Amino acid sequence: MTKLTLQTKLAILSDAAKYDASCASSGTSRRTSRDGTGLGSTTGSGICHAYAPDGRCISLLKILMTNFCIYDCAYCVNRVSSNVERARFTPEEVVHLTLEFYRRNYIEGLFLSSGIIKSSDATMSDMVRIARTLRTEHNFRGYIHLKTIPDADPLLIEEAGLFADRLSINVELPTDAAVKSYAPEKNPDEIRRTMANVRLRKDAGRERSHTGKRPPKFAPAGQSTQMIVGADNSTDATILGQSTRLYSSYHLKRVYYSAFSPIPDATAKLPLIRPPLAREHRLYQADWLLRFYGFDVGEITGASPDGNLDLAIDPKLAWALANRAQFPMDVNRASREMLLRVPGFGAKTVGRILSTRRHRTLRYDDLLRMGASMTKARAFVTLLDWTPGALTDSSDLRARFAPPPEQLSLF
Ligand code: SF4
Repeated sequence: MTKLTLQTKLAILSDAAKYDASCASSGTSRRTSRDGTGLGSTTGSGICHAYAPDGRCISLLKILMTNFCIYDCAYCVNRVSSNVERARFTPEEVVHLTLEFYRRNYIEGLFLSSGIIKSSDATMSDMVRIARTLRTEHNFRGYIHLKTIPDADPLLIEEAGLFADRLSINVELPTDAAVKSYAPEKNPDEIRRTMANVRLRKDAGRERSHTGKRPPKFAPAGQSTQMIVGADNSTDATILGQSTRLYSSYHLKRVYYSAFSPIPDATAKLPLIRPPLAREHRLYQADWLLRFYGFDVGEITGASPDGNLDLAIDPKLAWALANRAQFPMDVNRASREMLLRVPGFGAKTVGRILSTRRHRTLRYDDLLRMGASMTKARAFVTLLDWTPGALTDSSDLRARFAPPPEQLSLF
């Protein structure tokens, strides 16, 4: 086998890492300047962005340690039966790249995932070694996000949490049945057990000992998980129901939804049902409504009979259109909970409404100044100088918001 240069490995293993979600941005169009006609590119991989615990957006070197894998997950381009080009970094190479990129100010941290080589323990042990070397030998203070291998020795995962800011344990697919059929080597019970252990270990890290000493920090940025959507028949109601359980059971910081990308040489027959990127985008919006806007899964997915989100309009607007009896809402009197349900009102706008209306009665222009999207909101609200009249119940209201259907590009 020809020996690959570090640069070639970086090209292969950063490209392979694009299927690991670490931030919720996707869906832009493909632009590149590799032909020398411009500057910048939306298609390159290697550096991604994520939010640090203090809310800053930071750049991460995002790579796989290797894309060799002994498992055969049907939805994964790196599965053992796939014929993609393979590469493998040594732990020392990953440490070297991280430090060099950091010194050149390209990145503020490392996002590391991996295929499984030899065994889960061997792979996890190398990943821990990378994090340990960065922290203890090079005093690396940047952000580290490690994707853990759920069936690795719990002691290795525990050690990973002492060096990494965030740990991820992927649930892979929305249901146990889907995991069993598409990723037969993975065990959903084992995945949940590992997530529970991380939660317990993190909770224990908050307690002081009898001498008042705090234990060492454990994954201070918490744990997250990733679910591939579109590779099985699960509806959006099933996916969001699973997310809700995961958030509450394991105190997750984030569930990442990763649109299933059809694999060019896929031998497995996977059902590709709905446009994947549009669906991923709507799921992130719905997830946000569940966590911060007081909606429940039944309300969000109940607007359509098949349990799937409307891809043409955002989920809050879809809910409002299906519940027009609750509108128009008097912005000067409605509760915070109800204002959060108005399409076009974000949490910040609602905060501004509540504080301003203590002093005076709000008008249409006030809401524009507060940042409300009145194109969406005006059919659903009344103000001192505004009433939507028949607009709220008009039969073409949905059509005013829905763009002509279009599939977004995959990468
Ligand atoms: S274990 Fe991970 S890398 Fe390996 S085939 Fe499954 S999803 Fe892909």
